[in-house]
Amino acid sequence: MLNGKIAVSIEKEFSEPANERRYIVGVDIGSSTLAAVTVLDSQSGKVVKQLYFGRDVAVRQMKYEERRAKLQSHADKGSEKANKYLKRLKHKQRNFVKTRSGQVAKEIANLALKYDACIVIEKLKFRAVRGKVNKNGRKKINRIPYTQFREFLKSNCLKYGVLFQEVDAYHTSKWCPKCGALNNGHDSVNYALYTCKKCGLTVNSDRKASLAIAVKSLLERTSQGLTNSCFVQISRRKVPVNGLVRPDDGVLSGAVHLTQPPMESPLL
Ligand SMILES: [Zn+2]
Repeated sequence: MLNGKIAVSIEKEFSEPANERRYIVGVDIGSSTLAAVTVLDSQSGKVVKQLYFGRDVAVRQMKYEERRAKLQSHADKGSEKANKYLKRLKHKQRNFVKTRSGQVAKEIANLALKYDACIVIEKLKFRAVRGKVNKNGRKKINRIPYTQFREFLKSNCLKYGVLFQEVDAYHTSKWCPKCGALNNGHDSVNYALYTCKKCGLTVNSDRKASLAIAVKSLLERTSQGLTNSCFVQISRRKVPVNGLVRPDDGVLSGAVHLTQPPMESPLL
């Protein structure tokens, strides 16, 4: 009996504390906005807030690159001066991105503190293959300081005692938060937009992805209750989330498999 009690208290202590946080801060690291953020209330399913951080970064990066391209062409023609300026400019650009990444990460950590929320981002290895791989898209994606920004976010979470979670990026850019359908991540005409072919919803694609990331975190909490058709309550609407679940995902669909009779059940 005593042993049983001890076992229970230990289990409680080590249970995932993120599950107890009412608010989830979903962060999408994007091409036009350094970070699009959704604050989701896990109890009501309501979106409390959606914010953009570091929109200036992409604009400044573009200007830096234009200047770099000009200097590079002079340097290629043998200009020592251009070469010197180019080096200085590269250094300046790196510092700018580093400073802004740090500032934005701190702002997001403060936002999470205000709501006593956990911060959720996508796992990086899946992020790299996201989006349309056209020439412009790739160029945009390459300009984002993903790794650096993630590290800043992580270290700020550690510093301020904010819970940090990473979720599978599967379909977060494709899923429609209104009807649950899957579409292309980015509008073919306007890269910053997401348009749903089924319900007609048109929203900022980064902002939408940050909501999907928060929903994904919620799904991982409640994965025990997942069935073949599962929904999440978003602002009074029940939205199907099956599209967000990887069909062969051991973690998320594990509960689904449990509902099936075990293959090796005795024949008695
Ligand atoms: Zn839709």
